[in-house]
Amino acid sequence: MAVVLKTRKEIELMREAGRISAMALKVAGEAVRPGVSTLEIDTIARKYIESQGAKPNFLGLYGFPATACISINNEVIHGIPSKDRILKEGDIVSIDLGAVKDGYHGDNAATFAVGQISDEAQRLIDTTRESLYVGLKQAVAGNRIGDISNAVQVYCEERGYGVVQDFVGHGVGKSLHEDPSVPNFGSPGRGARLLPGMTIAVEPMINQGTWQVNQLPDGWTIVTKDGKLSAHFEHTIAITNDGECMILTLPE
Ligand code: MG
Repeated sequence: MAVVLKTRKEIELMREAGRISAMALKVAGEAVRPGVSTLEIDTIARKYIESQGAKPNFLGLYGFPATACISINNEVIHGIPSKDRILKEGDIVSIDLGAVKDGYHGDNAATFAVGQISDEAQRLIDTTRESLYVGLKQAVAGNRIGDISNAVQVYCEERGYGVVQDFVGHGVGKSLHEDPSVPNFGSPGRGARLLPGMTIAVEPMINQGTWQVNQLPDGWTIVTKDGKLSAHFEHTIAITNDGECMILTLPE
């Protein structure tokens, strides 16, 4: 499948889908506290998205049963919201969600602290967030996907973390998942050339220990192989002519 370049009008539509996605992530994050269930957080996100005349784009995709993937501690991605998953003081929780509006998709993720967390957990969250922006600095026309990938990988590995390889970022547009793949590891100067009008989701998934992961028997939840913590940040962006990317998943 070829990479689809978007027109200015399409990027405006994606900005609106991105705004709704970012606001839904914001309200979901504001609901994170000890004692709340991951299903309650999911419901808050779904109601926000629906209030904007949009639809949760994860719901039903490949059979996923919820609006958000909500992954706690050693869970990397694809955690299924449940009334029985109650957040506890000291947990970290990754929320990944998106919205589709007028045929265009947004996708974003962030990891939140539940009450007071350890310094080590905070450092993992901070490094993962920073690595996203380090990657986005490379997301300029003329560079290649591998420039983003390598920037994320080097930043995280230099700080002692494992970079998940089994799951990667992706193109976004009329479908939630389009070409090209956007790995968080790789060599600079390799992969697809970045062109104005490309819209991609960059999403570092970073582990405290090994990069290796397992899937739980629920068929969805991805966990770290060594049981250590994992964090995840994601923006949907557009490649521009301006020498820096446009982040589409900003809340306003
Ligand atoms: Mg994504």
